Amino acid sequence: MELIIGSHVSFTKDTQLLGSVVEALGYKSTAFMFYTGAPQNTLRVKIDSEKTNEALKLMKENYIDIKNVVVHAPYIINLANINNFDFNVRFLREEISRVESLGVKNIVLHPGSHVGAGVENGIKNIIDALNTTLKRENNIVICLETMAGKGTELGRNFDEIKSIIDGIELKDKVGVCMDTCHLNDAGYDLSDFDSILDEFDKKIGLKYLKVIHINDSKNIIGTHKDRHENIGIGSIGFQALINIIYHDKLKGIPKILETPYVEKHAPYKQEIEMIRNKTFNNHLIEDILK
Ligand code: FE
Ligand code: FE
Ligand code: ZN
Repeated sequence: MELIIGSHVSFTKDTQLLGSVVEALGYKSTAFMFYTGAPQNTLRVKIDSEKTNEALKLMKENYIDIKNVVVHAPYIINLANINNFDFNVRFLREEISRVESLGVKNIVLHPGSHVGAGVENGIKNIIDALNTTLKRENNIVICLETMAGKGTELGRNFDEIKSIIDGIELKDKVGVCMDTCHLNDAGYDLSDFDSILDEFDKKIGLKYLKVIHINDSKNIIGTHKDRHENIGIGSIGFQALINIIYHDKLKGIPKILETPYVEKHAPYKQEIEMIRNKTFNNHLIEDILK
């Protein structure tokens, strides 16, 4: 099976999904992820079905399967905060219908920050918000992202993710997105990824794993920082990331890079090439800047 790899790409008002596909193809991707609008505000464009159809056609010609396309929900949604309940439900529902009209299934969502309410209350709020938002007829999966545990972030470990999923009524509408930088920063040792997968499988179940964010980390394990680094030059390292990307149990799962731009240059073409070669490129940064 072909490696399912891609990166975060842009989605603009004018070119919409078609622009995202063109950008992804420029990096030689077989998957990609985008925000449907600026993640920090609520301004959203109407989805243009003509552009969507053109995009789907271009994807087909280039063997990008729509099931390997991911939308990241905006981070102004904080389901753990009870004060935002009505806004959260309304905006997440709108986001779901935009995503459905694009034909995308997986929506990555940060579980939320409890902002002082405490872990238990925060998790309860997330569950209530999701149970209110999700409808049986929805054709999407909300993929809860594993978080670094910065501030009062929830989803810092598999137990918290499990607690959320346990409370969800429509279990076929929830999944998990593992983020390697976040796992490292949360305290998971990625050099022993088999143990991590075992724990995940026991506590949550591998069938819930839908997306993996592949990022190196600027910080050492357990620092709860969440600062992404380019592939192979952070504390996780190239070989550990390669072992995850090519892991037998993760074959059908899209792997998405969210590594930082280098002086305004997207690093993804060079990083994806290096991942395909399974060999670290000692001139990675120079090549990105070329
Ligand atoms: Fe994220
Ligand atoms: Fe991520
Ligand atoms: Zn992050």
